[in-house]
Amino acid sequence: MDARERALRQAYGHAVHWLESLSDRRVPARASVEEIVRALGVELPDGPSEPADVVDLLATACEPGLTAFPGGRFYGFVIGGTEPAALAADWLVSAWDQNCVLRAASPAYAAVEEVAGAWLLDLLGLPGDSAVGFTTGATMANFTCLAAGRDAVLRRAGWNVARDGLAGGPPLRVVAGQDRHMSIDLALRYLGLGEPELVKADGQGRIEPEALRHALAAGGPGPTIVVLQAGDIHSGAFDPFAEAIRAAREADAWVHVDGAFGLWAAASPAYAHLTAGCAGADSWATDAHKTLNVPYDCGLAIVRDRSAGRAAMGLHGDYLILHEHGDPSDKVPELSRRGRAFTVWAALRSLGRSGVADLVERLCRHASAFAAGIAGIDGATVLNDVVFTQVCAEFGDDARTERVLAALLDDGTAWISGSTWHGRRVMRISVSNWSTTDEDVTRTLDAVRRASGGA
Ligand SMILES: *Cc1c(COP(=O)(O)O)cnc(C)c1O
Repeated sequence: MDARERALRQAYGHAVHWLESLSDRRVPARASVEEIVRALGVELPDGPSEPADVVDLLATACEPGLTAFPGGRFYGFVIGGTEPAALAADWLVSAWDQNCVLRAASPAYAAVEEVAGAWLLDLLGLPGDSAVGFTTGATMANFTCLAAGRDAVLRRAGWNVARDGLAGGPPLRVVAGQDRHMSIDLALRYLGLGEPELVKADGQGRIEPEALRHALAAGGPGPTIVVLQAGDIHSGAFDPFAEAIRAAREADAWVHVDGAFGLWAAASPAYAHLTAGCAGADSWATDAHKTLNVPYDCGLAIVRDRSAGRAAMGLHGDYLILHEHGDPSDKVPELSRRGRAFTVWAALRSLGRSGVADLVERLCRHASAFAAGIAGIDGATVLNDVVFTQVCAEFGDDARTERVLAALLDDGTAWISGSTWHGRRVMRISVSNWSTTDEDVTRTLDAVRRASGGA
C-alpha cells in the first residue's frame, strides 16, 4: 500500500466512524475553537509528514469540535445533510479532480451536467430548455440569475452592461418582497445595484400582488427586476406566483425566484401546488445542498433564456453566439471549479422521482409533527401556518423563549435556532435532513418539553 492509499483508507475509517456517531452523539460541538487550535498545534512543521498521519491528526483533533450538522436532529437554519450516494460520489469528485470549464476538456463532466440539469428541470417543473448552472450555493445562484436579469433588462433599454458597465446607464429598479432572504441584498450589492425597493408582504411573508402592481406602476416604465420567493425561512410560505408574475409582466420586468429550499416542493405531487405559476418566471435559484441533501457545496442557477445567462457569465459575453450546447463555465461566475454535477446526479439517480417526492413529503410530515407537539406544550404557541418544512414558535414572551432555546442547546439532544420574526424572539425549526426519523422528532420534542419545563 503506498502513502496515498494509506491516507485514503485512514480518511475512510474516520468518515465511517463520524457517520456512525451521528445517531447518538450530542448535536452541538463539545470543544471550543481554542481547544481545537491547541489539539492541532499552531507551529507549521519544518518538514513533511506521512499523509496518513496528517489525516489522523486532523480527524482526531477536530472530532470534539464538530457539530452534527448531517445528523437527524439538527434543525437550525436550513442546511440539509448528506444523502449516501451523493456523499460517496463527492469523494470521487475529489479523486477525479476534473476541471469543469470546457465541454471538450471533460466529456464525462459535461455529460453528467447535461443529464442532471435535465432531470432537475423535469423534477422542479421548469422550462426544459433552461440553462442549469452549478454554483457554490443559493447566494451565488441568486447572484448569477440576477446578473442575467440585470444585463437583459438593460439590453432591452439599449444599454450594454458587459461593454459599458453600469455608470451612465438607465436606472434599474429591483423590487422584492419585504421578507426576502438577505442573500438577495448581498447579490444585489455584488451586482452594483444597491438595496431593493421593498413591497409589503402578508403575515406569513408572502408578497402582496396588488402592492407589487402598485409599486411597479408608481415607478413608471423602465428596466425592472422583480424578486419573488419560494419558501420563507421563518414560515416556509410561498409567494403567490401566478398573480405576482402577471403583475411583473405588465411592467415588462425580469422575474427571479429565490427558492433555495422551497423550489423542491414542485417535486412532490402533494406539495407542488405551493409553486403553482412559478415556472412563468425568467430565472430561479435553488440549492442542492439543502432539500436534496448533497454535501456542501452546491447551488443551482437556472435561467430560462440560455443566451441571457451566457451573455452575463460566458467568457465571450456575446449575446449572439448561439451554440446548441454552451460550455459549463458559461452558466456560472467561476472558471475552474469543483465537479458538482457528479454529486447531484448521484443523489437524483439514487432517489429516483418517487424518492425525491418522498424526501420532500417526509420533511414536511416531520415539520407538522413538530408543530403539533409544540402546540401541546404549556405556554407554547406555533406562530406560522406550517405549509412546508418550517416551524416558528414562541414560549410566552421573548425572555422565556430565549431561556428555552438556551436550555435546549445545553441539553444537546438537538439543535434548533433562535430568530426574530415580526419583532418577536422565536424558536425556528427547519426540517431539512433526509435521515431525520420519527424517533428523532419524538426525542427532540421530549427535549423541548424538558427545556420549557425548566424555563
Ligand atoms: C439558504 C438560503 C439562501 C442562501 O443559500 P446559500 O446556499 O447559503 O448561499 C438564499 N435564500 C433562501 C430562501 C435560503 O433559505
